[in-house]
Amino acid sequence: MTGSGPGNAAERYGHKMDKVIKYERVVKKWYDSLEEGKFLGTVCERCGACEFPPLYSCNTCGGHDMRWIEMSGDATLESFVLNGPMSADYGEPYALGYVRVKEGAIFTAIVFGITKRNAPEVDKMLPAPLKMEIFQRDGYKTVAFRLVK
Ligand SMILES: [Zn+2]
Repeated sequence: MTGSGPGNAAERYGHKMDKVIKYERVVKKWYDSLEEGKFLGTVCERCGACEFPPLYSCNTCGGHDMRWIEMSGDATLESFVLNGPMSADYGEPYALGYVRVKEGAIFTAIVFGITKRNAPEVDKMLPAPLKMEIFQRDGYKTVAFRLVK
C-alpha cells in the first residue's frame, strides 16, 4: 500500500487522504453510537471476520467491504493481568484483560470486577464470561468490560 509502486506522488497522497477520511468517519460513528448506548462493530463482507472496535478494512483478509453490526455485548475473558500502581484511575479496581467478543474479535481491554483479592479465584474461572459496558471518560465515552458473577 505504501512506498514504491506505480502512480505519482499526488495520487499516493490522495489515496492516503482518502484513508484518513474513511478512518475518521468510522471513529466518529463509533463514538456517536456509544453516546446512543450502542456497541457497533464491523464485519467483513469477503471473509466474515468481525472487527471490534470497528475498522474500515479487514485485519484478517485486507478486504475493504465492511458493514456495520450491533454487537451483542457478550464476551469472554481469556486471560488478564492486574493493573500496576502507575496506571490510570478508572474509579474502581480493574485488570487488563485479553478479551474475546462473541462475534469473534480478540483484543486487550479494561476489565472491572477483578481485584488483587479475587484474582486467584478469577484465574481458575477462565475463560470467564464478561459483559461490555459503556465507560465515561473525561468528555467522551468508551468501552470497558465487567466480569459476570
Ligand atoms: Zn476479511
